[in-house]
Amino acid sequence: MDKNERCSLCGRSRKEVGILFQGVNGNICDDCIRRGYEILKEEEHFHKTEKPDKALKLKKPKEIKAFLDDYVIGQDYAKKGLSVAVYNHYKRISQEKNDVDIEKSNIIMVGETGTGKTLLAKTIAKMLNVPFAIVDATVLTEAGYVGEDIESLLTRLLQAADYDVASAEQGIVFIDEIDKIARKGDNPSITRDVSGEGVQQGLLKLLEGSIVNVPPQGGRKHPEQKMIAVDTKNILFICGGAFEGLDKIIARRMNTQVVGYGTQKNIEKIDSKNMLQYVIPEDIRKFGLIPEIVGRLPVLAYLNPLDREALRQILTEPKNSIVNQYIKLFKIDGIDIKFDDEALDYIVDQAISFKLGARGLRSICESIMLEAMFEMPSENKKTFTVTKKYAESKLDRTAAIKFRNA
Ligand code: ADP
Repeated sequence: MDKNERCSLCGRSRKEVGILFQGVNGNICDDCIRRGYEILKEEEHFHKTEKPDKALKLKKPKEIKAFLDDYVIGQDYAKKGLSVAVYNHYKRISQEKNDVDIEKSNIIMVGETGTGKTLLAKTIAKMLNVPFAIVDATVLTEAGYVGEDIESLLTRLLQAADYDVASAEQGIVFIDEIDKIARKGDNPSITRDVSGEGVQQGLLKLLEGSIVNVPPQGGRKHPEQKMIAVDTKNILFICGGAFEGLDKIIARRMNTQVVGYGTQKNIEKIDSKNMLQYVIPEDIRKFGLIPEIVGRLPVLAYLNPLDREALRQILTEPKNSIVNQYIKLFKIDGIDIKFDDEALDYIVDQAISFKLGARGLRSICESIMLEAMFEMPSENKKTFTVTKKYAESKLDRTAAIKFRNA
């Protein structure tokens, strides 16, 4: 056959390809162009991940929230608080030095565990191009106690910034479980929880903005270690915690009971199932955070408990929802899987009955899907539907007991 009738790269004939583009000294088919394009894209992506773009992109609060909406269900109030705080953070660090200093608006998020606090923080991190670190307040202790020094909070941030101090100094730190360092009891002079309060004092220094010596490898400081000086003035802190019992403090303040026989006229208006929506800074102080810390966390956002409908949405709607992840996993083996609506309802029901919330959805799905994930890659079946009956049969008694005790 005339060589003009073939793709000069893959050698296939005009008949075997979709379109054959003719050049001066050769031809190229649509498939080869497509493949070349994919390689180019991969290369670009590779280079991007190799050298992160350090330039700041100023995204508007609505754009930030829209991005969060793709991954996190509900929690509009917290999303708005975060979007504005992050936007202002960008503005503050990109402004020219002048006579008006924009103060930091560090954030505190309160909400039951598994309602999306960490997910919100992680999703924000995905979008940002400033260094971002998630740290757990429970590992922190006052100097002299067993645990990590408070300054080690910043080690993670330095690591995220590849030890570029200037860039770490504009970063964001998410401190999880901030409630665990609360002072026990409202009255500091009677029930003084020294270590909790000491950690808070240490943390306060970071929140206020000061130059601290950070151990580059984390953990405890030791004399031989060379420290890195980091100025925390422009670092944005986002704190999160479940604050168990906070609802009662709020209820008491509002002079009503969570489950009670209140006689106030306005009692019907109070949504006693979700007291956290009425939280004010004073409640956080009563819970046991020292007033100075509360003052340094001016944006107070709450997360709603997740109801059945929200759990159902979490299964399917976010961009990287659990269901989408399974679909993708099976697709790699050339298998199309589907979940019946009743199967999804069943999974949600189980998560509710085991009181596992959103966190449980994933482990329940794993138990249901294990066998299929084990067997199907070696079989020839190309489609698979997860029905309620299938889900029930896989989530057997042992799994149920395991979850109940989780
Ligand atoms: P928290 O930090 O509040 O304890 P997480 O953010 O770690 O909870 O949530 C645990 C998991 O539950 C997440 O990884 C996510 O899969 C799911 N999840 C929780 N809340 C949401 C939500 N609002 N939208 C989507 N997924 C959620």
